Amino acid sequence: MEKILDGKTLSSKIKNELKTEIKTFMIKPCLTVIQIGNDEASNIYIESKRKACEETGIWFKHVKYDSFVDKLEVINKIKELNSDEYVDGILLQLPLPNGFDAKNIIKYINPSKDVDGLTDISVGKLVNNKNCLVSCTPLGIIRLLEEYNIELEGKHVVIVGRSNLVGKPLMSLCLNKNATVTVCHSKTVNLEKITKEADILIVAVGHKKLITENMVKENCVVIDVGINRADGKIYGDVDYNNVYNKASYITPVPGGVGPMTVAMLLKNVVKSYKSRNTSK
Ligand code: NAP
Repeated sequence: MEKILDGKTLSSKIKNELKTEIKTFMIKPCLTVIQIGNDEASNIYIESKRKACEETGIWFKHVKYDSFVDKLEVINKIKELNSDEYVDGILLQLPLPNGFDAKNIIKYINPSKDVDGLTDISVGKLVNNKNCLVSCTPLGIIRLLEEYNIELEGKHVVIVGRSNLVGKPLMSLCLNKNATVTVCHSKTVNLEKITKEADILIVAVGHKKLITENMVKENCVVIDVGINRADGKIYGDVDYNNVYNKASYITPVPGGVGPMTVAMLLKNVVKSYKSRNTSK
């Protein structure tokens, strides 16, 4: 049985569907990415967002500030973008340089354009299982599980990592789908004992090969969110070659969760576009 959860192929399918849909729109949807500083990984992620937008027919705008920019200037730009009827998605590229508090900037993004699902209003709606824009990586993981008919209801999902961007929204999405959810983090005692109980193990830590074969049970579904760069290569958080033997399904890195994240970003931009202005 094929056990690889192929995010690359699924994301291409989603992008093609979006491209077809966008062709029917009178005006192109628009995503604006705000970057502060010149973080190398952020530059790569922004370029992949630009490419995906251009391939799909979404207008991509990149607003870049140096790391000495006054916070007020960024906030004023967000306010301007909030009231620009041609802007559908606003994304603050993270991480920010030292000295900036992401929460204190993100809170100015209009929740209807919050395509990263990080404003308090978006988070609150998600927790209450209400329609909203949801963080792209968790959304992509759920979409990938659905594609392979992997049910969440009644399953024990163990999430390793509790970031606002991945672990916490994922917890809400899984709970909303009636899974039993355990969330682990850096202070968790005896991680191995907990991960071994998972029917579905989702790891978002940023620690190369943190999860080894002895930490997963037979036939577990393993989702690896981690992106760790070493010796010119990209590794996940899971020791893929060894865990592969035990897993019923597993995501590769690269080619698993990463492409799904970008596809869900495009989907969120289109969702925002449609919900805000159906007459466009
Ligand atoms: P983050 O904000 O740094 O959060 C990491 C989480 O891991 C924290 O909750 C931390 O616990 C926990 N942690 C750290 N060491 C641990 C350990 N030894 N055992 C258990 N938990 C531990 O990271 P993030 O933004 O969620 O990203 C995580 C990884 O996913 C990174 O490699 C990132 O590059 C990758 N990522 C990939 C995608 C994608 O599209 N594929 C998208 C987003 C992120 P505390 O809360 O206690 O500090």
